[in-house]
Amino acid sequence: METKDQYPHRRWNPLRQAWVLVSPHRTQRPWQGEVGQKAAPSGVSYDPECYLCPGNKRAGGAVNPQYDSIFTFVNDYAALLPDLPGTSAASGSPLLIAEPARGLCKVLCFHPDHSLTLARMTQPEIRRVVDAWAKEYEELGSLDWIEYVQIFENRGAMMGASNPHPHGQIWSTGFVPDEPAVETRAQREYLDRTGLCLLCSYLATERASGERVVLENDHFAVLVPWWAVWPFEVLVVSKRHLGAMPELTGIERDALADVLKRLTTRYDNLFETSFPYTMGFHQNPTDKEKHPEGHFHAHFYPPLLRSATVRKFMVGFEMLGMPQRDITPESAAERLRACYEQHFWPRD
Ligand SMILES: [Zn+2]
Ligand SMILES: [Zn+2]
Ligand SMILES: [Zn+2]
Repeated sequence: METKDQYPHRRWNPLRQAWVLVSPHRTQRPWQGEVGQKAAPSGVSYDPECYLCPGNKRAGGAVNPQYDSIFTFVNDYAALLPDLPGTSAASGSPLLIAEPARGLCKVLCFHPDHSLTLARMTQPEIRRVVDAWAKEYEELGSLDWIEYVQIFENRGAMMGASNPHPHGQIWSTGFVPDEPAVETRAQREYLDRTGLCLLCSYLATERASGERVVLENDHFAVLVPWWAVWPFEVLVVSKRHLGAMPELTGIERDALADVLKRLTTRYDNLFETSFPYTMGFHQNPTDKEKHPEGHFHAHFYPPLLRSATVRKFMVGFEMLGMPQRDITPESAAERLRACYEQHFWPRD
């Protein structure tokens, strides 16, 4: 295929209805830029200074219980609040628009052990986290004013995670945020035009070629999307058409835990580092509308490019023009396929 040549080309992302510039030849350029810190897995199981460890006091004054599996609480420094003191005043200009934004932000600790990550947790331990995610989506999404539940994890200092303790966040909002709104619209248009689900069709295409598939089990596939922007970006897609986590059967939840563990282990093994990323699930909006177009999936956006310390920056042309990548999605998939699923830093 012509696009596999080492020449610049652009690829279409049908999920965001946007182009991505691919410049494979650029990886040959010398690197004299910033070199980050290599992140080793943390060695301590309990950190008395950590506000997420069991029994510790949080900044807001609350004390964490001695939890032994997962633990959820409302974020002490939430970006969104459920109650607002009335509506904002009109600005008088159609160019100065604001709206009140209500939301509820929660934190979910994945494990009491401070030193762990998803990659180093067992599959049954990750399954408990999957169940907690499904429960939070269902509970928050059933509130009449919540229109979207965004579940995500920021992993590693490079991604701005303030604490290495294994945890994620759940921001639920009184509106559908821009990224899922764009993807929902694109999936709706594709369904209206073709009568088919965009991601069901896309997954069939990818599985037929296998070029960008990293790993799969009976219920999920992990692939580097055709339109990936981040060097080792992947998409985790359910093989069955479903819109949100509560619809997952027990077997499918085990299968999701399985691919999450295998993927994050390969990530860590790639550069023998605790691989940083932002990951999150896109599920149907909870706006009480029907969403036949929505197909449950997760995005992983890791910043590392060529080693444990050299990251990709989204600057210059990417801020002003369009996103761009150096290594092709095919070679990224090949490198991830070559990684072991046995963690380089096993638990005792
Ligand atoms: Zn901790
Ligand atoms: Zn589908
Ligand atoms: Zn998405």
